[in-house]
Amino acid sequence: MTRARLPRPEEVAAARADSRLIRAREERPEDETWRVRGNCRSVDPETFFPAATEPPDMAVAVCGGCPVRGACLAWALEAGDAHGVWGGTTPRERRAMVIAWRAGAGERRELIGVG
Ligand code: SF4
Repeated sequence: MTRARLPRPEEVAAARADSRLIRAREERPEDETWRVRGNCRSVDPETFFPAATEPPDMAVAVCGGCPVRGACLAWALEAGDAHGVWGGTTPRERRAMVIAWRAGAGERRELIGVG
């Protein structure tokens, strides 16, 4: 097993501007009710956890039309979950997104005077 390298600053900057991350910030869930509205309800869960040698295309396509993909990605970024496809993103993509997400959370706390 190889160890994942840390995302480069330019990858984090790109993640910060990624429309999927922006949507996740806008649709950050306050509870777990989004889960029952996901398009994946009727899809084999294994689809969202492809082997390292398999493309994630099928899962990403299902997520692409999902009405709660912003909430789903926000949940995964909060959880720091490293496995599977969430909100149309792969674990590799989320490595940089998690750093951008946490930095954004710090900025939000400063804006509202918390922390
Ligand atoms: S974005 Fe994808 S993984 Fe998340 S709820 Fe929707 S279909 Fe399921």
